[in-house]
Amino acid sequence: MANGLVGEPYPTALIFGVPGAGKGTQGEILTRIPGFFHCSTGVIFRSMDPDSEDGRLVRDFSSRGELVPDELTIRIWKNWVDAMRSIGKFLPRKQLLLLDGIPRNAAQCELLEPYIDVKVIVHLECQDEQAMIERIRRRAMLENRPDDLNEEVTKRRFEVYREMTKPVLEYYPPELIKNVESTGIVSEVLFHSLRHLVPVLKEHFPRQLK
Ligand code: ADP
Repeated sequence: MANGLVGEPYPTALIFGVPGAGKGTQGEILTRIPGFFHCSTGVIFRSMDPDSEDGRLVRDFSSRGELVPDELTIRIWKNWVDAMRSIGKFLPRKQLLLLDGIPRNAAQCELLEPYIDVKVIVHLECQDEQAMIERIRRRAMLENRPDDLNEEVTKRRFEVYREMTKPVLEYYPPELIKNVESTGIVSEVLFHSLRHLVPVLKEHFPRQLK
């Protein structure tokens, strides 16, 4: 089996979609199901020491709704994944890596090539931008994300998504992209996401399912 050996890219699923589409919500639930390991760059960035040099840089960009520079993002992501591996939380022989929030532009897709082997992209689609903005406002309070209370910053996050992140979908073969309507209730979005994720899990990790 090819997965998880030193130097080999991890079989990976991307959870993709506009800010507020529910990537994090789905990722948090899925990571409790055996066979999935959720990794969100937004969560990693918010957990960084704000007084460290990297923490300050990350904050400087993210608080304005701008992307954190690519090399820095990939370095922090890689260190985190390696750390999770070394403490036995991420088990690459048994778990499909679920990436949420990364790659966020075409350059990041290229930088990630040595590390990930993208098997499926769950695209949480939403036609109703206003519904997403409302979700973001609610979450800002619940999750202590003060930048998201600032309407200008939220608008900028959407612009960045349209201009830089959406093209990520063109980087990968179209047959990998599975559209899931994200405005349904959480269990419904989960149900449809699993319809696309479970076959990938069974194909690439057949042993752990026995
Ligand atoms: P949202 O769902 O609002 O887009 P995230 O929690 O995914 O929020 O990310 C919060 C912020 O962290 C982003 O707006 C961006 O500034 C920064 N960020 C997260 N992931 C990346 C990434 N892969 N590359 C660059 N910046 C990122």
